[in-house]
Amino acid sequence: MNNKNKVYLDYAASTPVDPIVLKEMSPYFCQKFANPGSLHFSGQIASQAVFQSRQKIAQSLGVNYNEIIFTGSATEANNLALRGVVSHAKSKIQSASWRTKIIISSIEHESVLETAQILEKWGVNVVRLPVNSQGIVDLKVLEKELDNKTVLVSVMTANNQMGALQPIKKIANLIKEFRISTNSKDFPLTSPTSPYPFFHTDAVQAFQYLNCTPEELGVDLMTLSGQKIYGPKGIGLLYIKKQSQPFIQAQITGGSQEQNFRSGTENVPAIVGFSKAIELTDKLRQKEFARLKILKEYFYSKIKKNFPKARLNGSLANSLPNNLNIYFPGISGEKILIALDLAGIAISSGSACSARSISPSYVLLAMGLNNETAKNSLRFSFGRQTTKTEINKTISALKNVFQ
Ligand code: PLP
Repeated sequence: MNNKNKVYLDYAASTPVDPIVLKEMSPYFCQKFANPGSLHFSGQIASQAVFQSRQKIAQSLGVNYNEIIFTGSATEANNLALRGVVSHAKSKIQSASWRTKIIISSIEHESVLETAQILEKWGVNVVRLPVNSQGIVDLKVLEKELDNKTVLVSVMTANNQMGALQPIKKIANLIKEFRISTNSKDFPLTSPTSPYPFFHTDAVQAFQYLNCTPEELGVDLMTLSGQKIYGPKGIGLLYIKKQSQPFIQAQITGGSQEQNFRSGTENVPAIVGFSKAIELTDKLRQKEFARLKILKEYFYSKIKKNFPKARLNGSLANSLPNNLNIYFPGISGEKILIALDLAGIAISSGSACSARSISPSYVLLAMGLNNETAKNSLRFSFGRQTTKTEINKTISALKNVFQ
């Protein structure tokens, strides 16, 4: 972190904008500021920048440029995925008795969970897959729940609160097999081959460290966010596979930007920055994965040595290399967080969105932790600026808390 005395260990909440990204964005605020929809030369410069950024991102993801839909956040992209698929399906279904179904994991980000809850009020049957003590979704339940009313399955690639990696490829294969085996004539929408259920993944946390191309993961829809990969805030994207596009209904209507999936003047500087951030992430991914994995193991070994009663929530191996969620018995998580804050160390009590709430993490509860343990667990998340010195400083500060 820039301030030498401060330690920032909350990279899962947000990352600083890389100076290279900022430099790339900078001309698009005051000089190349025009609306990309304008026909004049100035508009064409902005439109060219959006086009080139989209192409670069598409190349990185191994997809077609018109499969990238820019949004104002990952939250919006997740909303578009869920609401878009469901509202299209509902608009086409004639049968009054048909109850559309979606399947999500019980530990999705709030942008999926809250949206699903609203869809439930629309009459959608929402199935929330349970997870085991390591935070991994139960594939047997998924297999059992897949039926010809299921229009969407949404499971995040990696969890934001404790970093668990989900078996995305296995889920993709289950869905593929289900699509082949199911008699699509049972589904009132399509024949002879049903495109349902679509498979969406929120890869916001995973993209920094894993190969998250839609082909590799086997997904039809994928969400990414700028702010988690050293890009700007206020920019996200939804990858929508070409074949899935006719089955998604826009949620923000107006000037028909983003192929009519998301109206609103494009955020040109953020799009340019997002594209640069993805380029840098591609370059640094493997190296940072290896470096942070070592740091994470080092941190955890120090925790075990100095706080033998502390417990890791989730798995050390099957998780992101930058994310550790730890329960320290005997002292409230809030107290530790405040003490570390006063010592100049920023960590989190859960996801940033729910950090201000004192309720226990729903993710940890879903993993079987009790209220007390879940409430008193803390997330340490590392990033490009994290060093061994910072880890040692954090351990010392924690020791002071427990003295
Ligand atoms: N999905 C996951 C897994 C996240 O961690 C976050 C942010 O915390 C989001 C979605 C939402 O991202 P944004 O704040 O860009 O909307």
